[in-house]
Amino acid sequence: MSKQVAGIAASKGIAIARPYLLNTPDLSYEEKEITETDVELERFDQAIEKSKTDLESIQKKVKNTDEAKIFDAHLLLLEDPELISAITLKISEEKLSAEAAVDEVMQSYISMFESMDDEYLKERAADIKDITQRIMSHLLNKLLPDLSLIKEEVIIVAKDLTPSETAQLDVRYVKGFITDIGGRTSHSAIMARTMGIPAIVGTSNASEIIRQDDMIILDGSRGEVLLNPESSVLEDYQTKLRNELSRKELLKQYVNASTQTKDNVKVNLFANIGSPLDLEAVVNNGAEGIGLYRTEFLYMESKQAPTEDEQYEAYKKVLETMGDRPVTVRTLDIGGDKELPYLTLPDEMNPFLGLRAVRYTLKETALFRIQLRALLRASIYGNLKIMFPMISTFEEFYAAKQLLLEEKTNLRNEGIQVSDAIEIGIMVETPSVIMMADQFAKEVDFFSIGTNDLVQYTFACDRMNENVSYLYQAHHPAIFKMIEQVIEAAHREGKQVSVCGELASDATAQMVLVGMGIDSLSVSASSILESRAFINERSKADLEKIAVMVKACREEKEVVEQLNKYID
Ligand code: PEP
Ligand code: MG
Repeated sequence: MSKQVAGIAASKGIAIARPYLLNTPDLSYEEKEITETDVELERFDQAIEKSKTDLESIQKKVKNTDEAKIFDAHLLLLEDPELISAITLKISEEKLSAEAAVDEVMQSYISMFESMDDEYLKERAADIKDITQRIMSHLLNKLLPDLSLIKEEVIIVAKDLTPSETAQLDVRYVKGFITDIGGRTSHSAIMARTMGIPAIVGTSNASEIIRQDDMIILDGSRGEVLLNPESSVLEDYQTKLRNELSRKELLKQYVNASTQTKDNVKVNLFANIGSPLDLEAVVNNGAEGIGLYRTEFLYMESKQAPTEDEQYEAYKKVLETMGDRPVTVRTLDIGGDKELPYLTLPDEMNPFLGLRAVRYTLKETALFRIQLRALLRASIYGNLKIMFPMISTFEEFYAAKQLLLEEKTNLRNEGIQVSDAIEIGIMVETPSVIMMADQFAKEVDFFSIGTNDLVQYTFACDRMNENVSYLYQAHHPAIFKMIEQVIEAAHREGKQVSVCGELASDATAQMVLVGMGIDSLSVSASSILESRAFINERSKADLEKIAVMVKACREEKEVVEQLNKYID
């Protein structure tokens, strides 16, 4: 049996190659008494300038990609007055060496981010470590490895891979990477998905176990690394890799294709995004629109709530990039598992059943109005649809819509243009809305079913609680029946229905959803082509029969067993 290392499946795909063991130089330093603070301040200034030059040249290499933006953030941090003055004060008042001052201040920032509950914010500590490493390398005159010089096929193995290191990777040679630390939302993981190379992070010890002469199989979908596999295993994986590459090549023909079944029933295939940074992948994969823009990431990225102008710029960018294609923006969905350090959310026994999403924004109307104004102002740049999350009653829908209409009037009174064609819809995530779908269908312009939440509210099981995860049954007939009820109610009123939860990306579920007559599916950008190929290879008439069969099942496991028979 070949030796195995396991970690978090950060980016899918298979890679087979020898390792490139990344050794970051030892950046430890000796504590010393400082007499000439001017000299230290000058050394610090120079290290900052050299770091900026490095980053600008890395940024040029990744020009016009999502990664370039990461380095904007790094450059901004190098100019952050609060940070710079904290370090210079340590040097001039506490008489610390430049190394010790940088280390102390940066470590306090790193600990602050690492202690945050939110996974996304927690991962931002990696960006600060990246910058710290760069400044320290200049102070200590130790060169950081230049990964852009790699010119043979390798898999990078590292304790950690910083965003700037990841940006240097040339995917013609670097077939994948494995790191000891990091999570699915760390920048290097996000970048691997964008670059389309497999990656496994958070293995805790890969860099200690893997040796220079090992042959590695990296299985990014399973989060597994096989070392020195037996020849039969190696051959199996070589075949898998060949199939994967030809599948990727084949899928390219679907980039500009429309999504429709063999018997010509159109399905809109939209993408879910969290930021304008995701747009490149959306466009490259030929998404027909944005089905869900989770705006809370805009709020999570800054130290305080983004201003109306900042939000307007982000929405405008997304709308302009998508042109005529629809862009469905969801208003702030905070609360539940998503917190914001600068907002005071109440301490609740059951946050998922508490003040979250539209319930919160209807309470904090000043915050809500800012977002609505930014959206309305941006509306003239494209095909905007606005939807409210976690609606459970008509009162909530009317109240949210009322605020939107008020802000529209206010803007027009201020002489600011607003589109007349904005559709207003709701997320369907609560059973109460499903039971009232026939009535809601008369009032809303569209429905978007959020199955991630719908499943937890249907089975009364917290989506984050492992003790009851067995009840989190997204493929249960109850869920599909609820979805069908919404589709029928909407279609009777000539309205459209989309599914934007994770279920929409699942091939088995896609058969049932399309069979039931769903109008749109909104999936991650990297699932677009697979989904399009899958739907285009099937006929609606066959899928309708599958949908009928699913409704006759009593349990999820029966559904899954039946559906798997149709997947090769
Ligand atoms: C959902 O609940 O399915 C959904 C798309 O919203 P989120 O996952 O952001 O709660
Ligand atoms: Mg939700």
